[in-house]
Amino acid sequence: MDLEDTLLMMPGPVPVAPKVLRAMSKPMINHRGKEFSAMFDDCTAMLKEIFQTQNDLMIVSGSGTASMEAALGCTIDKEDKVVAIENGKFGERFKDIAARYGQVVPLEFEWGQSVDLELVEEKLSEGAKAVTMVHNETSAGIRNPAPEVGKLAKKYDALFIMDGVTSIGGDDVKVDEWGVDIAVTGSQKCVAAPPGLSMLSVSERAFDAMTKENLPYYLDLKAYKKSADKSQTPYTPAVPLFFGLQEALKIVMEEGMDARKRRQATGAAAVRAAMDVMGVEMFPQLNEASAYSNTVSAMKAPEGVSGNDIKSAMMEKGIIIAGGQNRLSGQIFRIGSMGNVAPKDIMLTIQELELVLK
Ligand code: PLP
Repeated sequence: MDLEDTLLMMPGPVPVAPKVLRAMSKPMINHRGKEFSAMFDDCTAMLKEIFQTQNDLMIVSGSGTASMEAALGCTIDKEDKVVAIENGKFGERFKDIAARYGQVVPLEFEWGQSVDLELVEEKLSEGAKAVTMVHNETSAGIRNPAPEVGKLAKKYDALFIMDGVTSIGGDDVKVDEWGVDIAVTGSQKCVAAPPGLSMLSVSERAFDAMTKENLPYYLDLKAYKKSADKSQTPYTPAVPLFFGLQEALKIVMEEGMDARKRRQATGAAAVRAAMDVMGVEMFPQLNEASAYSNTVSAMKAPEGVSGNDIKSAMMEKGIIIAGGQNRLSGQIFRIGSMGNVAPKDIMLTIQELELVLK
């Protein structure tokens, strides 16, 4: 396979711009020096704009899951209850992480089914320290109702811990307005940087809730905050990835978040329209609270065809799409519209898919 000539249309990692790649080959710098601090400040300022928050912003050397674990590991103690909303693989991951630290109150929906807000309210009304939800459930192509869950979390005095791994930088996310106490994203998704970093915002309320005796060591968010106040990270950061992230964020800023959201949503809408014409069914079962994802589209594999075969046939054409994960393997296939994916990339993917499905 010629990797220089491959089109990555999966929901992350996404293609990164040549100037991001070039930035990563710059000579190393002192991570305790002024140059690093300036880059750190630049990145956090841009990220705050993207997250729509005034909360503290941390950058962790570790993928999205590291920050999901930091969020729960720092706030949840053995006896604390966590309402874990699940309608896909990443909701399940939040639930599994929560189970390592506290008492999980599972709120499981079939993967691909919408969240039922009445049930969320019912669980929260019984008392919980936190509620976790994946805003954009990548595994199922669903956008979950974050503003509504934020309101419920506030009403019942629970922390709202949100996975925004495939929405932040691609879709509408308003951390402060929605009352998200901890919001997490990953570098390899909507902001189109290479994999390896995760970024999270942490509210004052969330810091106040970090009262447990033993916080995690490497993922101690209080230590991250202390260092961030000095424009540093507590341990040696992945400096080349910071170089790449800074360039990627500049591209986001140049495009502007409104245009960026519009482009990604248009890409997803184009995929859905094409599927409609081809007679391919979308996978999510939506109620009024949820919506199709604007950054990844999940489709049911047509009768008698495996999603994995569709993926393989597309790969032979040099286009990498995604299949289904875990229990959805074979049943669905997914096309990403996140990051810097251009309309022509979407068009080419649709054209080739039509030939594959003929
Ligand atoms: N959450 C969501 C919604 C994701 O899509 C992913 C990765 O695809 C993750 C969490 C996990 O992130 P990572 O693989 O960067 O640890």
